[in-house]
Amino acid sequence: MQNSSITTTELWISKLREELDGEVITPDDDSYDEARAVYYGIDRKPDVIVRPTDSNEVAYVVSVARDTGTELAVRSGGHSIAGYGSSDGGIVLDLSAMKGVHVDTKQRTVWAHAGLTASELTRALGEHGLAVGFGDNGSVGIGGITLGGGVGFLSRNHGLTIDSLLAAELVTADGKVLRVDAENHPDLFWAIRGGGGNFGVATRFQFGLHEVDEIVGGMLILPATTDTIAGFVELAAGAPDELSTIANVMKAPPMPFLPEELHGQVILFGLLVYSGDPETGESVVAPFRELATPLLDKIEPGRYSGIYEEEEEGPPPGVFAVRNFFVDAIDHAAAETIVEQVNASTASMAVTQIRVLGGAISRVPDDATAYAHRRQPIMLNIASMFQQPDEAAAHQAWVSGLATALGDKGTAYVNFIGDEGNERVRQAYPGHTWDRLREVKHRYDPTNLFRVNQNIPPASPEGGL
Ligand SMILES: Cc1cc2nc3c(=O)[nH]c(=O)nc-3n(C[C@H](O)[C@H](O)[C@H](O)COP(=O)(O)OP(=O)(O)OC[C@H]3O[C@@H](n4cnc5c(N)ncnc54)[C@H](O)[C@@H]3O)c2cc1C
Repeated sequence: MQNSSITTTELWISKLREELDGEVITPDDDSYDEARAVYYGIDRKPDVIVRPTDSNEVAYVVSVARDTGTELAVRSGGHSIAGYGSSDGGIVLDLSAMKGVHVDTKQRTVWAHAGLTASELTRALGEHGLAVGFGDNGSVGIGGITLGGGVGFLSRNHGLTIDSLLAAELVTADGKVLRVDAENHPDLFWAIRGGGGNFGVATRFQFGLHEVDEIVGGMLILPATTDTIAGFVELAAGAPDELSTIANVMKAPPMPFLPEELHGQVILFGLLVYSGDPETGESVVAPFRELATPLLDKIEPGRYSGIYEEEEEGPPPGVFAVRNFFVDAIDHAAAETIVEQVNASTASMAVTQIRVLGGAISRVPDDATAYAHRRQPIMLNIASMFQQPDEAAAHQAWVSGLATALGDKGTAYVNFIGDEGNERVRQAYPGHTWDRLREVKHRYDPTNLFRVNQNIPPASPEGGL
């Protein structure tokens, strides 16, 4: 029995090799360990990693997974916090060989293949003085970040990444290659703007582009006090929409550009990007510099296309406990709690990340896309990194305790949750959004072929869970 199933697997893998131009990598190949690696070092061993070269090859891989009943993990940049860009014993459909970029400078649009990273596409668009916003990390794949929403340094000015999405090419569970936009399959177009990879493999995205070239931005490190933290949040919320910020309250890591005596001290590690007129930008960032004498001030004029590091290092090896949620405010009392708790943490890295939202994000109606937390003013990410898996309960308790103290009411942004169970996925989709997503899922993927993700189960025909 076991032999015949091994033979069957070998058979369809050899058929994949015959049919596809793209790479087909199995445990026997020297490149296997490199090819299976994902960002957080999550250790999964797929039977095969396939790197298709176009949407027809993607459709072929999807049909093989469907017809053989094999688990299918879809990977763009491999940054899923839960490791959903990989699989144990299944197929990894790795889009990293698909990196085409076709810019239409007249229409200010781009068709971009889903194997690109945020920095690759940002640099390519920068050659034309144009941009679409992604997140704070350049090696994140445009596939995952776009399908989940996309919160970054252009969000208050130009909305989430999905707010610039005009169309997508999507390979659905039945192997069809669909154009999905406001006129074609509008239900799917609604669902893929926030609903993640549940509805098919996005092979290409068409984005509307923004004229963003010269910016004022960079890193601003301040001592972390109740005044600097609450003051930073107040300034960020009151700033013009052209300014997007991230404030990380954390113990200073041993970064070479920080004086040694600061290592281990709690700091406010701010990141700011002003994407309007640079001269105005200088006056908008000035009050942040006045919150306290900066420990480091790297805010300067530059080009938006240069915001990502050339070579980003992956995270150091370790285990994470995380919690993402939205809050209305970070006042002095909340700031005090954050400083106390970050100080008290015994983890090798403990952080509370504060992202002030609003602006263009909140001008889109809640029901226009599957990302429906539009009116939430502040997003928090609490994370703790540690070395020993048996310490997980203690660090998760630290994360949960701080989240509760800061007013966590069970909300979530899908791209920042780990493998935290179905209830957490549901919290990403408030109100009617969840039911609507389940109906679309039932229409396009009734057998839940695309399930290695923050999963939205298909609605059952009877209407129950
Ligand atoms: C260091 C770091 C910084 C981050 N910063 C930000 C940030 O600033 N803003 C923000 O919004 N998010 C941020 N994120 C979260 C990030 O957006 C998500 O982890 C995202 O899902 C990663 O996308 P990926 O393609 O790299 O990952 P993958 O692991 O390849 O994919 C993630 C999920 O999306 C699915 N998927 C990916 N591509 C496709 C596709 N083409 N078709 C169908 N399904 C697909 C996968 O199956 C998987 O379920 C960050 C993550 C990390 C690790």
